[in-house]
Amino acid sequence: MIPRNVKKRSRFRLAVVLAAGTVFASLGTWAEYTNWQRLLQSATNRQMETARAIALHINDIMALVQQPLNNLTAHAKEALGDTAKSQHLLEEMQRVVQTSPLLRSLAYADANGRLVDSTLVANSAGMDLTNREYFIFHQTNASIAPRFGLPSQSQTTGKWFIPISKRVDDTDGSFAGVIVATIDIDHLVKYIETFGVNEDNAFALMREDGGILLRLPLDPKAMGSNIADTELYRNHIMKVMRGNYEYISRFDGQDRIGGFYRSRETGVTAIATRTKQSILFLWLNQSKYPWLSIIFAYLIGMGLAIRWVRQIELREIGEQKVVAREAEFRMIASLSLDVIEKISIEGVREYVSPAAEKLFDQRAETLLGTNILDTHNPEDRAAWRDALNRIKEGSTSESVLTKRQRADGSTIWLESVLSCTHDESSDAPDAIVVITRDVTRQQKLKLELDALATTDGLTGLYNKRHFNAQLDACMAKAKKLATPLSLLMIDLDRFKLYNDTYGHRAGDNALRDVAAAIQVQLSNMNGLAARYGGEELVVLLPNCGEGEARKMAEAIRNAVVALGIGHAHNLPWGQITISLGFATALPSQPMTESELIDCADRALYIAKTNGRNQSVSGHDAFGPKRLTASA
Ligand code: GH3
Ligand code: MG
Ligand code: MG
Repeated sequence: MIPRNVKKRSRFRLAVVLAAGTVFASLGTWAEYTNWQRLLQSATNRQMETARAIALHINDIMALVQQPLNNLTAHAKEALGDTAKSQHLLEEMQRVVQTSPLLRSLAYADANGRLVDSTLVANSAGMDLTNREYFIFHQTNASIAPRFGLPSQSQTTGKWFIPISKRVDDTDGSFAGVIVATIDIDHLVKYIETFGVNEDNAFALMREDGGILLRLPLDPKAMGSNIADTELYRNHIMKVMRGNYEYISRFDGQDRIGGFYRSRETGVTAIATRTKQSILFLWLNQSKYPWLSIIFAYLIGMGLAIRWVRQIELREIGEQKVVAREAEFRMIASLSLDVIEKISIEGVREYVSPAAEKLFDQRAETLLGTNILDTHNPEDRAAWRDALNRIKEGSTSESVLTKRQRADGSTIWLESVLSCTHDESSDAPDAIVVITRDVTRQQKLKLELDALATTDGLTGLYNKRHFNAQLDACMAKAKKLATPLSLLMIDLDRFKLYNDTYGHRAGDNALRDVAAAIQVQLSNMNGLAARYGGEELVVLLPNCGEGEARKMAEAIRNAVVALGIGHAHNLPWGQITISLGFATALPSQPMTESELIDCADRALYIAKTNGRNQSVSGHDAFGPKRLTASA
């Protein structure tokens, strides 16, 4: 589970990263949006420029048509009612049509709407034109300026043409008919197609009254229709001479942007439009790579940032775990009666638990930074140094037993277990945890057990097993150091009789007293007394020559006599006495352990047979030669 504070920090970091990413993406988006606006603006401006060019071209057409129309107007008046002149007018009209590539036909209708002459249809004279839009206009309008009429489609060829008509006034200014020229739209179409006509790019020519003269791509429904009722017409085109606008086309339903330009000379408005969608595609095509770069950079950036945030989060979790674990360790350590220490590989204390005060008589804080080697008794330091060295060499666990003097004078035994911890990455030993506990009680028990195993229960002297072991050790040492080693064999005199007389319990007490007396004599000397068996005792005297052994034998014998334990049947003394036989192994005359015992034993025998209560030297009795001979 992720700790709440880590989660909170992580969320904050993520929010900052996302905000930075969003700002970056917004800047990119804004830059691209600005590009779109610029593109739209330049496209719109271009539409108006195109519209202007087309409008000016219409002016040129009008100028080209106007001249022959003016000339024909004069001829037309004269031709009225005059057949010859009428024929001349027709010829003139035919000549003008033939010489002008622009003109398709010319015709003249009189004031009654009757077709007088036409270059188009032979023998069409008399045809009624009263219902034609241009005729009605000129009949009711005094202007003699030429005017574009609404487009018509030829019934024979299917081709579209546009009429340009002009009023003919009589000499008195009254209406005298109409001269009509028609122009093929092919010429216009060719010109406009140079700007590129397609589903996206549409063009229109419109009269001031909203009548559509031409719409490209060619749309029969649009040709001749009227858009005076549209918002575009009312609010844009008729308000100013030129401008831009955006609208939904009534002809193809497309969202278009357009530019328009109205000619003062002809009143015709040229409109050039383009679908917004095509500009959008153009923009998308242009901004494809910037967009992809922005998205790519955003995704990569966000991915890396999220990874980075996650890594920080994991690290923080790890750190918190370490802190928690350390706190847990310290809590457990502080509750423990054992002293828990963390020391460096060199032995410097980094942590000491509070139990140190009780066990070491020192506050934990005062021990921090000290070396573990410096705070132990000099005699224990070697053991500590060895343990640390073994850990450095790869041992994972060591234990050291130390004896310590408490402030109150008492002695305690401490057992320290050293465990090595390893660096996670290199696996090298990086610290040692030392757990130290008070093992005084166990140590005392152990000593007691050891003592029990080596001591005789009745006399408190060493037992025979321990004596034999000590004899071997002392003999080896004596040989090594070339020192003498003496042995005293002691036996209570007529002890069977004592038991028989005073009872076994009294016998035990007497035996105990004799042992104690021996111990007293040995107290000033490096010697060891043991119960060899029954009422036979033995004393081992390392580094002790024969003379000293003799003195000691006599001292012990006298000490027993001095005890004055009554023994009525041990006559002539009437008290407990002992007999002793002793022998000395000299460096010059080496002996085995059994030879030494045997020699002392035989001397004891002599002491007994000589009358008891005396000490006899094996050397005196047998001499080295005899001893050797008898052995
Ligand atoms: P001697 O002067 O020749 O040595 O005579 P002795 O009676 O001492 O002779 P012996 O060595 O044959 O007798 C040993 C006696 O010591 C036998 C036994 O009653 C007694 N004894 C041996 N061990 C013990 C003991 O642990 N307690 C008691 N009370 N008596 C013991
Ligand atoms: Mg005996
Ligand atoms: Mg005896």
